[in-house]
Amino acid sequence: MPPSEANTALEIVQVPVLSDNYVYLVHDRPSGATAVVDPSVAEPVLAEAGKRGWRITHILNTHHHADHVGGNLEIKRATGAKVIGPAYDRDRIPGLDLAVDEASGADFAGHHAQVFFVPGHTRGHIAYYFADSQALFCGDTLFSIGCGRLFEGTPQQMWSSLLKLRGLPDATRVYCAHEYTESNCRFAVSIDPDNPALARKAAEVRAARQEGRSTVPSTLGSEKSCNPFLRADQASLMQRFAKAGSDSTAVFGAIRAAKDSF
Ligand SMILES: [Zn+2]
Repeated sequence: MPPSEANTALEIVQVPVLSDNYVYLVHDRPSGATAVVDPSVAEPVLAEAGKRGWRITHILNTHHHADHVGGNLEIKRATGAKVIGPAYDRDRIPGLDLAVDEASGADFAGHHAQVFFVPGHTRGHIAYYFADSQALFCGDTLFSIGCGRLFEGTPQQMWSSLLKLRGLPDATRVYCAHEYTESNCRFAVSIDPDNPALARKAAEVRAARQEGRSTVPSTLGSEKSCNPFLRADQASLMQRFAKAGSDSTAVFGAIRAAKDSF
């Protein structure tokens, strides 16, 4: 990392909670401010911050599901943190102080996060992108080698949401909210068996999980070559799912439906 980046980049710590959730502590060293992304629960998050001597000043929520906001109120009570979340879901985010959207973005300790409106998994889902740290917090929209289920949105919405994220630089680190990568790889290999980048990725992921290591973050460059949900407009997948139609939205919908019943 070049010295200029070392001075300004956010320090990011992953806190595994529940069965497969990841909460993130995002720390600005110069000011000591720390944001928590999608706290499922409070106690392990407060403990990790306490152990490091980090002061939690903000909570950033991507969407309203309980395993992303469950710790909001307790962390807010314990630290006075300011809760930032999606404007479109303002009524479903506990303790919300500041509603943000694509126009406002979100500011934290002198860092500006670009906010992407990425409906599909939920109707109000957002993602936070810190360009200065090449970090994307995408909640349950994009997973490593997968994407979120469509609980409140259509395939069309999710595909256009994923295309927004796909537009970010390859070096972007993808901090998604779940460790689902190994099972996602099993599905991906089943529908994209001739993709050598995916085969390599699946082997790496298997080895990492056997050693109990996290597979997150991945990079967006790797996702672009391996994740079938970012590749619905690639020839091999369009051919395989041609029965669904000849446009990428239909192919994306067919891939999502195939995963739902995999
Ligand atoms: Zn969710």
